[in-house]
Amino acid sequence: MTGSRLGLMGGTFNPIHFGHLRAAEEVAEGFRLSRLLFVPSGQPPHKPHRPVVEFEHRLAMVRLASAGRPGFGVSDVEGHRRGPSYTVDTLGFFQKAWGPAATLYFIVGLDAFLDVASWRDYRRLFTLAHLVVISRPGTDPLDLEPLLKAMVSVDYAWYEGERAFFHPRLLPVHYRPVAPLDISSSAIRRRAHRGESIRYLIPDPVREYIDNNRLYQPIGPDGLSFGRGKEENV
Ligand code: ATP
Ligand code: MG
Repeated sequence: MTGSRLGLMGGTFNPIHFGHLRAAEEVAEGFRLSRLLFVPSGQPPHKPHRPVVEFEHRLAMVRLASAGRPGFGVSDVEGHRRGPSYTVDTLGFFQKAWGPAATLYFIVGLDAFLDVASWRDYRRLFTLAHLVVISRPGTDPLDLEPLLKAMVSVDYAWYEGERAFFHPRLLPVHYRPVAPLDISSSAIRRRAHRGESIRYLIPDPVREYIDNNRLYQPIGPDGLSFGRGKEENV
């Protein structure tokens, strides 16, 4: 794997949508990644009290969405771990699996990155992988620099030509504006629960999978799911 550039995009993917996919496409192209793996979270540490669709369903949807795009793949590593999954463990796993010749690029939306200080052992992330922070509608990119300097290191300096913050000892943090697709999994779930169309927000095979497996079923005014008789997966 000499000189390979491995992109990793973590997320709940509940469900995966075109916002994720288009961002992944642009980062894969822009960074000339050898491979990009979507890494669905097991039990998400930030959503412990909110029921999330089972890992196997989220994994299956990510597989359907990325199938047929050479270079894209899916890793189920977080689903195999007991308890919550932490990004730092996942990056450590891939660093070991791919060896020192590979460069890891961890792709994260700006909204998620602004929370980085709440992630387990977050300072170590900056020794394991390049961070590729992607733009997201509704989140101000001007918040990135102060956050990075306050929570990680004042020695991060912005290089406009490279669109990245560089550091004398830590790995770079790139900022990459991507197509501003104002799509979120939570809005998709809300639409589905109201019985509204989610067509053209997610790939058709994912939509068919949702239908066939009766995920995100309409919820009636009494809070009961028409399909299953109890509220879940909100
Ligand atoms: P939810 O609304 O449930 O939080 P989400 O749409 O944010 O879902 P996640 O699975 O939480 O999806 O996101 C995985 C990663 O993809 C995060 O780093 C997130 O910031 C990023 N991301 C999600 N949607 C977009 C989008 N439309 N544009 C850019 N990045 C996105
Ligand atoms: Mg999110």
